[in-house]
Amino acid sequence: MAGSIPRTFIDDLLNRVDIVEIIDARVPLKKKGREYWACCPFHNEKSPSFSVSQNKQFYHCFGCQQHGNAISFLMDYDHMEFVEAIETLAQHVGVEIPYEKGHSNKPRNTPYTESLITTLQNCSDYYQAQLKQHNEAIDYLKQRGISGQTAKNFGIGFAPPGWNNLSGDEKLLIDSGMLIKNDQGKTYDRFRHRLMFPIRDRRGRTIAFGGRIINPDDNPKYLNSPETEVFHKGEEIYGLHELKQANTQIEQIFITEGYMDVVALAEHGVTTAVATLGTAISHNQIEQLFRTVKTLVFCFDADQAGRKAAWRALENSLVSLKEGRLARFLFLPDGHDPDTYIQEHGKQAFLQLAHQATTLTEFLFTELLSQGEVHSPEGRAQFVDKLRPYYNKIPLQSLKDQILRDVEKHLSIELDARLLQVIGGELPAKNSKTLIPEQHWTPTRLAINLLLQKPQLAALAGNLDELIEADIPGIELLLQILDQIHEQPDISTQNLLGRFSGHEHEGHLYKIAAMTPAMLNESDDIQPMFEDAINRLRLKYAENRFHKLNQKLMSGGKLNEQEIQEYRRLQHKK
Ligand SMILES: [Zn+2]
Repeated sequence: MAGSIPRTFIDDLLNRVDIVEIIDARVPLKKKGREYWACCPFHNEKSPSFSVSQNKQFYHCFGCQQHGNAISFLMDYDHMEFVEAIETLAQHVGVEIPYEKGHSNKPRNTPYTESLITTLQNCSDYYQAQLKQHNEAIDYLKQRGISGQTAKNFGIGFAPPGWNNLSGDEKLLIDSGMLIKNDQGKTYDRFRHRLMFPIRDRRGRTIAFGGRIINPDDNPKYLNSPETEVFHKGEEIYGLHELKQANTQIEQIFITEGYMDVVALAEHGVTTAVATLGTAISHNQIEQLFRTVKTLVFCFDADQAGRKAAWRALENSLVSLKEGRLARFLFLPDGHDPDTYIQEHGKQAFLQLAHQATTLTEFLFTELLSQGEVHSPEGRAQFVDKLRPYYNKIPLQSLKDQILRDVEKHLSIELDARLLQVIGGELPAKNSKTLIPEQHWTPTRLAINLLLQKPQLAALAGNLDELIEADIPGIELLLQILDQIHEQPDISTQNLLGRFSGHEHEGHLYKIAAMTPAMLNESDDIQPMFEDAINRLRLKYAENRFHKLNQKLMSGGKLNEQEIQEYRRLQHKK
């Protein structure tokens, strides 16, 4: 996500900013104990469960599990884009951002990018003028049921046949993707004999085009602008600007697969549709949309390809499912897409269909259940295995609880502690009002918590690699954290947490970080506690090994030389 802003700069910026100051300016905080508290700005509540740690420079809500650093706070609270949030923080502490060359996320306001955008706008004006002069294009739109007004709203134009229609500065036309230069050094128009759909950024500036053929013999059917300095496919969303123009209050956004869908839906009064640009929807795009609206409805064909695309959308949505956010999946019947469906059945039928769209959890279960039986214990274990990575990505506890209840329903079993451990989940809280849930401070959790308070403790841990073999919950995460610190020994807590952004256990990690072990007083030296936790882990591993070797002996197995030595050593320790 960091794109072209160097990570070292972001790390450094986060170390300079005080998150308490940033949040307090927007949501007044009160100090209680060692943390700052407020009623959570991300969910409705009467008593504060939103905590901000000045030490660790992050926030965590014990109610809705929302968490993050100063950057994510600005993104979620002020609805900023990633780069915008960085720019705001940089300005706040008075440093300049050293943008890297040749990558995405470049600022779009250099004089040269301004010229590119002007060039693209000129092309758009030209295409719109051409549309009026070409009956074949007008007829095509009519035949597709698109009115002049809708065509105008979306700036639809027409690139006439011929290779050299565009005029202007050649370099700008090439750099904006409108001209192609061949091996002989000759240039020609990229878009020919096509209906042209300008792709606009959030400010409504044309940054690229999509072109659709009107003669069925031509190909390819759809052609998009290439990536340029001002156009990054994975970040832009077709129709978002138009959607914001047409609506002040938006309940839900339909995400379709093409610009014709967006335009056709708008023609029939559904002005809340957008499209991705020929690629699977990215996490980045989903976040952008969720910052505009709480409910997303993904629209797909019901065929194999559609379900596959839907599954990718599901995977990319999971980490964005915070309080109040919903993702639904609409599968259109009988080879329809939104365009053809609304033409044939009208707005009401489409909205009715959308109303019955599959919820994310329904879709998740349908897909996973279709991959194998769940009547045998093995089948159920496999199911749980498949479910686990998706389950772990979800940051919202209430949704996780819902999924656990669904597991019980679909597998006709009662979740016991063992199965929960397999999933990596916790029993749904009996009393969700509890501010800080009762915690068992296992040595692993304690070690993680203390490391997050003071990463430099890692130096005391020694080599723990062999512990990976031990059957200790959470040990893998602990080892990953230690790895990160060994890689960068002076890393700060917030930078360390940042390394786990998007990690399957990110939510879990923030939760551990946000809790203070009850036995820990403000003045305590945490070093002995950390050493003790590590010792207990080593001991647990030794016990595990001893038990294993013992079992091998009991069952008549032979130990090799190395194992005998190990056995003696362990016996001695005991
Ligand atoms: Zn909350």
